[in-house]
Formats: sequence, structure tokens, C-alpha cells
Amino acid sequence: MNCLECGEKIIGRSDKKFCNDACRNAYNNKQNKDSSNLMRNVNNKLRKNYRILVEVNTEGKTKVTKSKLESLGFDFDYFTNFKIYKNGSEYQFIYDYGYKILEDDFILIVKNQA
Ligand SMILES: [Zn+2]
Repeated sequence: MNCLECGEKIIGRSDKKFCNDACRNAYNNKQNKDSSNLMRNVNNKLRKNYRILVEVNTEGKTKVTKSKLESLGFDFDYFTNFKIYKNGSEYQFIYDYGYKILEDDFILIVKNQA
């Protein structure tokens, strides 16, 4: 077994993953940093998507083309929750703003009243 941090061969118990505490701490700090970066990037995408929906949806309910949202930088991979209503409508939400994908490149944006 080699140390996950420095790659040195580990002497002693076979279940050890690091040669010492310093290597363990360095490794864990790096892992946490990666997670923080990932979370920050996702949060930024959500924030940007949200801002675009707020800007575009000026009167409670707005029909807009998918291309228009994409041209503003909207990323359809990122939303906070997904909801299917009793009537079968499927909405993606970004916090309190939702959108439904319609036919022919159209998107319906709504603000959740709840
Ligand atoms: Zn090490």
C-alpha cells in the first residue's frame, strides 16, 4: 500500500492509507478544497440561472424561447428541484422560479406563489 498523499510505500499496518498525520491532513484539505470549488461553481450557475429567470419573467408568467435563455447564458443542467403536478406538467425550479419546457423551443416561466 502506498500513501494516498505522497505515494511513499507505507510501513506497518496494511489498512493504513497515509504515512503520517501530515500526509493525511494535506490529502483531506485538498479533498475539501475540491468540494468547495465544486459547490461554489454550482452555486454560481444557480445564481446566474435565477437572475436570468427574474430578469425575463417580468409579469408572473412569461413565455420565452429556449434559445433566448441560452443566449443569456442560462444553463439547463442546473436547477434546485423538479416537480410533476397532478395534471402531468413537469417543472424545473430554481428556488421560487419554475419553468416548463413547451413545444417548439418554447419555455414557460412562472413564479411560485407558495
Ligand atoms: Zn505520505
